[in-house]
Amino acid sequence: MATYIVLLGPPGVGKGTQARILSETKKLAHISSGDLFRENIKNQTELGKVVKSYLDKGELVPDDVTIAMIRDRLSRPDCEAGAILDGFPRTPAQAEALEAMLKDFKGSVDAVPYITAAENVLIERASGRWTCKANGHIYHEKFNPPKQAGICDIDGSEVYQREDDKAETVSKRIHVYLEQTMPLVDHYRKAGKLVEVDGTLAVDQVTKTLFDKLKK
Ligand code: AMP
Repeated sequence: MATYIVLLGPPGVGKGTQARILSETKKLAHISSGDLFRENIKNQTELGKVVKSYLDKGELVPDDVTIAMIRDRLSRPDCEAGAILDGFPRTPAQAEALEAMLKDFKGSVDAVPYITAAENVLIERASGRWTCKANGHIYHEKFNPPKQAGICDIDGSEVYQREDDKAETVSKRIHVYLEQTMPLVDHYRKAGKLVEVDGTLAVDQVTKTLFDKLKK
């Protein structure tokens, strides 16, 4: 049976970094809804045009658009063994839709690592974050700078600061998260799937805690 892991946590907590590590270790596809939206915006697709203003403002893209995109992504062959979901679901309606679609793929949500940190830490993390243009690899100007300034260590592409990682938009995204995504924490806790991890630790320590807790 396929394995599906949902990463939950506020913007800037390190979900993307941990999702990449989990995906490589567990050999499961990494599906980041934010990366998919940004790719569509960069390629100026119809979807990209529809979602751009939401991302710029730090608001959530409407559920129907987001759910359709994820359904399409999960039905591709590289997701046959399952996937690490990073940034989806973000609303109760999305969580419900995910459960329904995973039934079609003969699976269900297996575990939900919930990575947390205080708001000041999140703002510092997100506003110092640099992302590579080609593949979304993540750096931090203070905690994890690229070896050569401005260049991704992995693929050599340029690194840039996401428009929505500027301090003001980060606060807005945290607010949106508290209002719309927090109910999912309770939902998955009641379902016995929540795995809580302290996101203020260093990256490798967060990874270690995450893997130890997932084993249990
Ligand atoms: P992220 O890269 O996960 O921080 O997402 C960046 C932006 O993409 C968010 O601020 C939203 O505008 C949009 N987005 C990503 N995932 C979702 C989702 N599951 N539902 C709605 N909007 C989303």
